[in-house]
Amino acid sequence: MAKKTQAREEVVLAPRTVEQLVTGIATSDGAGVKLTRVLTQPLQRRLDPFLMLDAFGSDDPGDYIAGFPDHPHRGFETVTYMIAGRMKHRDSAGHEGLLEDGGVQWMTAGRGVIHSEIPQQENGVMEGFQLWLNLPGRDKMRDPWYRDFGVGELPRFSGEGVTAIVIAGESHGVAGAVSRDATAPLYLDLHLAAGTRFAQALPPEHNAFVYVYRGEVTIAGRVVPARRMAILTNDSGADGVAIEAKAGGRALLVAGRPLGEPIAQYGPFVMNTEQEIYRALSDYREGRLA
Ligand code: FE
Repeated sequence: MAKKTQAREEVVLAPRTVEQLVTGIATSDGAGVKLTRVLTQPLQRRLDPFLMLDAFGSDDPGDYIAGFPDHPHRGFETVTYMIAGRMKHRDSAGHEGLLEDGGVQWMTAGRGVIHSEIPQQENGVMEGFQLWLNLPGRDKMRDPWYRDFGVGELPRFSGEGVTAIVIAGESHGVAGAVSRDATAPLYLDLHLAAGTRFAQALPPEHNAFVYVYRGEVTIAGRVVPARRMAILTNDSGADGVAIEAKAGGRALLVAGRPLGEPIAQYGPFVMNTEQEIYRALSDYREGRLA
């Protein structure tokens, strides 16, 4: 059963504005899965603690069927949100899970996992997102952790034409599926009927963005169309965000506390220094990563 909780209002008196709209870059990853990288490496500093957002969506099996065979990660967390489709996860820490329509998989790579993500469908639509969340330096070499949540296990609330699925953090008094102390991530999937408005309080120093995946929304007078990410300003006087949907839309709202640490990335390894990256590479090559 989905947890349904009585939601309380969030008061937002001075909403943030839109700093920039981002289109993303069409690319492919894994064994040839077509996707759009929305949050790319040049935006990692601006959107600290988030390192990457990939959006995938296709009804052509050729775009997704090969999946992501065994590959390593170290130093951060991956959050996969499946809007539609079936994907099987298996990792070197012994975790296994089937991610299905509306489900979320949260994996903390920590000091290292080798995992695979393989589609369990031969046709139909596969649509979803993968978000990478950084770990603070002190946690980068922690033990790996894994959990998956079926659609019915994700906290949600609704009212007046708005449904909010709370993947991480807290919204309108509803605690999400996952919480993290260092980065305090907020991850909401918002379904907004035509003519509705959703307000969310946000600490001004937290970096935040909205990714629209259906319809369009308006934020502080700026229209954000589908398949665009709106980076929200961090005005010190702003206390949150207000998202309006004149004609209806669906969007992810993501926010978190910046770590302010150096970011050294080489592919699937994200550490603080180059030296730690060399260490990750040699650990992987010599079979010590996982
Ligand atoms: Fe992966």
